[in-house]
Amino acid sequence: ATPTALMVGTGRGAQLGILIKGPEVLESTKRVDTIVLDKTGTVTTGKMTLLGTVVADGTDETDVLRLAGALEHASEHPIAQAVAAGAAAKVGALPTPEDFANVPGLGVQGVIEGHAVLVGREQLLAEWVIPLPEGLKKAKDEAEAAGRTAIAVAWDGEARAVLEVADAVKETSAEAVRRLRDLGLTPILLTGDNKAVAASVAAEVGIAPEHVIAEVLPQDKVDVVKRLQGEGRSVAMVGDGVNDAAALAQADLGLAMGTGTDAAIEAGDLTLVRGDLRAAADAIRLSRKTLGTIK
Ligand code: ADP
Ligand code: MG
Repeated sequence: ATPTALMVGTGRGAQLGILIKGPEVLESTKRVDTIVLDKTGTVTTGKMTLLGTVVADGTDETDVLRLAGALEHASEHPIAQAVAAGAAAKVGALPTPEDFANVPGLGVQGVIEGHAVLVGREQLLAEWVIPLPEGLKKAKDEAEAAGRTAIAVAWDGEARAVLEVADAVKETSAEAVRRLRDLGLTPILLTGDNKAVAASVAAEVGIAPEHVIAEVLPQDKVDVVKRLQGEGRSVAMVGDGVNDAAALAQADLGLAMGTGTDAAIEAGDLTLVRGDLRAAADAIRLSRKTLGTIK
């Protein structure tokens, strides 16, 4: 394409709510045949809600909400915000953690009122050799079967509760997936969340079960992109989180949600300003048009 055509394409992109880092970006979309979609915040709204709490025998729900809410209050993760907001709504003011750390892709850990508290995936508890008792395991399985994310809460070496959170698929996501497929792309859902939740979101937007890659740790998302590239695919990646940044940079075309984190926006080749996944299809259409590969 001529420089003028690329300039025009870039301008048209801006009208469509697509910010393109440089004219050369359009060239890199030419061969893209696979599009990897992050789940949380990209296909789904990322606005999670705390829907329920199941406590272990002898555990007080107020204690669970105070401690889990206090710890999650210190994290920016969408799940953390849901837990903190849901807890504060029920128990009021939350204590301030004496110590806090994010464990990427697994949850959070810290110290509150002298208790060592963990909130996150069952795997986070497993790292501290804390098993989920039968009742909580059952609550977790049931929540996940219903397409919700189950978050375990433990303190002082014992699992105390399972919190159920869920977010909704964006209204525009199914149409976006259909349009990406119409452009000849294979959509793949990539997430750190569990397989059951991933499968239910995939079914809702029309992504084939064999194209769901779940329970991937943040640092491993980039390896999934590399693996697909190693199979000879030319890969676009759409994401919003800090945990998507490396994968966005590795992809042949990185598309960042404008509603996402600065890290994702910096790593991407272009930004979908409104956070609407349909703009990903617009972007690919636009670049093909600009490059004269379609009318
Ligand atoms: P995604 O890839 O869908 O954006 P993440 O990689 O950020 O998700 O997180 C993967 C999983 O780790 C979450 O589904 C959740 O189970 C757990 N997790 C991560 N951060 C937290 C947190 N702050 N609190 C509770 N659970 C968390
Ligand atoms: Mg995300």
